[in-house]
Amino acid sequence: MLRVQKYGGTSVGSLDRIENVANRVAKAREEGHDLVIVVSAMSGETNKLIEYANHFSANPAKKEMDMLLSSGERITAALLAIALQSKGFDAVAMTGRQAGIVTDDTHTYARIESIDPTAMQNAISEGKIIIVAGFQGVNKAGSVTTLGRGGSDLSAVALAGALKAEQCEIYSDVDGIYTTDPRIEPHAKKLDTISYDEMLELSSLGAKVLQNRSVELAKKLKVKLYAKSSFSDNKGTLITEESKNMEEVLVSGVVLDKNQARVTLRGVVDRPGIAAEIFTKLANNNINVDMIIQNVGTDGLTNLGFTVPQSELDNAKRVVESFGAEIGGIDFDEHVCKVSVVGVGMKSHSGVASTAFTVLAENNINIQMISTSEIKVSMIIDEKYGELAVRTLHEAYGLDK
Ligand code: ADP
Ligand code: ASP
Ligand code: MG
Repeated sequence: MLRVQKYGGTSVGSLDRIENVANRVAKAREEGHDLVIVVSAMSGETNKLIEYANHFSANPAKKEMDMLLSSGERITAALLAIALQSKGFDAVAMTGRQAGIVTDDTHTYARIESIDPTAMQNAISEGKIIIVAGFQGVNKAGSVTTLGRGGSDLSAVALAGALKAEQCEIYSDVDGIYTTDPRIEPHAKKLDTISYDEMLELSSLGAKVLQNRSVELAKKLKVKLYAKSSFSDNKGTLITEESKNMEEVLVSGVVLDKNQARVTLRGVVDRPGIAAEIFTKLANNNINVDMIIQNVGTDGLTNLGFTVPQSELDNAKRVVESFGAEIGGIDFDEHVCKVSVVGVGMKSHSGVASTAFTVLAENNINIQMISTSEIKVSMIIDEKYGELAVRTLHEAYGLDK
């Protein structure tokens, strides 16, 4: 049976660690599995390449960024194939293009449009272990594209889907999905299973253990997805279809997203269409607006607040300032973060949100913005209380038990 395994940056972060991965792959091979291995760049490599580009330009061309960033994954793929060959295994390294991954033209955040698995299928039938450089594909014009940060997870899921693999295993430095980031809360508990929808919320809200697009695609293609550690043989977490007993659990996880900045617009002229104009202009400038609140206006004026990723704050400033006198005053706050609690059990139980508000209040943490969906509650608070809020909420919902 075919398995797709993905090894992330930390797992391939040094030559010794690539050797460790080669040994793990060799073992899986000896157990009789056909294997497609997706690799990330060595940890820190992608950030280093971005810094190199920023040395020359604050706003480098995205097409050239893709040329640059895709190289990190190619290095690891080639090295892992060489390591396996030296152990006597028949391995072949492929770029995203050679693996048949075709994307749209959105450089640095491309979407996979199709996968032609022929070359991979041929290599598998010749008994080869395939090592694919993650995070990349090629557009129809033949230019290399990348899939957004953390995109090797997406490469792995997409390949598992296209090859109808038995399962897709994502290996990192944690041995599964925990009730919260174990680096923040050492009492976090590993989950045996989690539903695609909960995982999608956790990832979208900032848990980087799986890239959110990869979870979305796994759900769509019904890929059996495991999160595991490349440093242990512990049983991982299975991300799967929602089941009845999952709903009995009220909250399954708490997430912290530090990459948030808040924009508050005061004295906005309260006329039909103003919100549409502001948010359309932000969208046209590729600014990802997250939470939005608008109050009921008084005297023809209203207040409007929203959050954006920190890296997009400067662009957001430019856009809102271009509205001139239609906006009375603008405040920015980079020192905010978002804490969220997620659980499918919220659908059928009430009181989850009020518990969150109460325990934050008991800790004197002021909530600046709130947003909810069927299975999550998110709150914007002062950045300096982020980790305290995570630990407090984790305990309040009994996740450490
Ligand atoms: P890789 O480089 O292999 O892709 P990442 O660094 O992207 O790995 O993801 C693994 C990290 O995700 C862990 O080190 C952990 O700190 C973090 N993380 C955040 N939230 C969670 C969670 N709920 N469960 C497990 N890990 C989490
Ligand atoms: N190397 C890329 C990144 O750091 C992709 C990945 O690791 O999944 O975002
Ligand atoms: Mg990752």
